[in-house]
Amino acid sequence: MGVREGFEELYGTAPDGVWAAPGRVNLIGEYTDFNEGFVMPLALPHTVVAALARRDDGVLRLHSADVAGPVVELRVDALEPLTDGSWGAYPAGVAWVLREAGHPVTGADVHLSSTVPTGAGLSSSAALEVVTALALDDLYGLGLTRPELARLAQRAENDFVGVPCGVMDQMASACGTEGHALHLDCRDLSVRQIPFDPASQGLALLVVDTRVRHALGDGAYAERRAGCEEGARQLGVPYLRDVAYGDLPAALARLSDERVRRYVRHVVSDDHRVDRVVALLDAGDVRAIGPVLTEGHVSLRDDLRISCPELDLVVDTATASGALGARMTGGGFGGSAIVLVEASEADTVTKAIEEAFDAAGFTAPRVFPAVPSAGARRLG
Ligand code: ADP
Ligand code: MG
Repeated sequence: MGVREGFEELYGTAPDGVWAAPGRVNLIGEYTDFNEGFVMPLALPHTVVAALARRDDGVLRLHSADVAGPVVELRVDALEPLTDGSWGAYPAGVAWVLREAGHPVTGADVHLSSTVPTGAGLSSSAALEVVTALALDDLYGLGLTRPELARLAQRAENDFVGVPCGVMDQMASACGTEGHALHLDCRDLSVRQIPFDPASQGLALLVVDTRVRHALGDGAYAERRAGCEEGARQLGVPYLRDVAYGDLPAALARLSDERVRRYVRHVVSDDHRVDRVVALLDAGDVRAIGPVLTEGHVSLRDDLRISCPELDLVVDTATASGALGARMTGGGFGGSAIVLVEASEADTVTKAIEEAFDAAGFTAPRVFPAVPSAGARRLG
């Protein structure tokens, strides 16, 4: 059943509209967003699709076809941060943050359904926030820009759900376009759409969802973030984005703490890898980004230390069996890796990864192509 039909069955009336927002995968630039640096995500074909109807009586009703349980009913004028892990916090947080920003959101009925795998590092949470933000923007005629919607969605996740994420995921979901990666400056949210269409070049960008999520991840993100802030403080710059790549050796020499030095080296070199990937794609040399991706993985593994055996196994197996390059993507400690491969080799490399996982006793991974797709949009 489609979300429109699901909405009608659930609420007994037709929705005012249907909207979609995609998950994303990040090509390069990891843990750089909160350092006001550069990232390069692309929107996936997987989306959260939501049907909404406006309400003017202060009631917010939420339902997900993917979660067992009744309709969640809240009052918009009594919303309080919901950090108990319940899914309704994401859309409720968006209504809350819009109201906090002075927008007259007076309620809605929401029913949604998603094809974005959850907890796989593909940002189902950002897709859920962005689809809600776009729909409420439309229903209430708020006229907010895509970057404004993304910033509000991020604030909902930070301050209402209680997850200290950067802005990359929401920007990718809000601003992605088909056949492009999004070059995003996380300082001012300026974006450049970079043509990136692996299939047209005889290539495939595979997403390998390892199906694991190590509990270590939660505290580690905050720890890396604090370490980066400490690095910037010791170097006397507002953010690590302000350390030029050419100045990296001198900057590292000024840092006494080995751990902080590793974090700084990762962030500054990953910002530089984003530049290199952009230059290669602009020059039409798509295959040449492979080794840059693999270099990024080594930096995440050895300097930032956020990889895990499953992610390393994907990258090692892929590169040993003919891939052009591979790296973990997203927050780390599980989730997904990406693999750039000749389309003609995709099956061979996929099989090699599956066999390696089987031999290691790991859960079978899920592998699918990352097709650069459209960002958030109204469907009807
Ligand atoms: P990721 O964003 O990497 O997928 P997160 O842990 O950040 O992982 O977000 C996943 C959470 O988002 C889920 O636990 C759930 O609360 C919410 N969520 C995602 N998709 C849906 C959905 N289809 N229905 C309800 N909640 C969802
Ligand atoms: Mg998330």
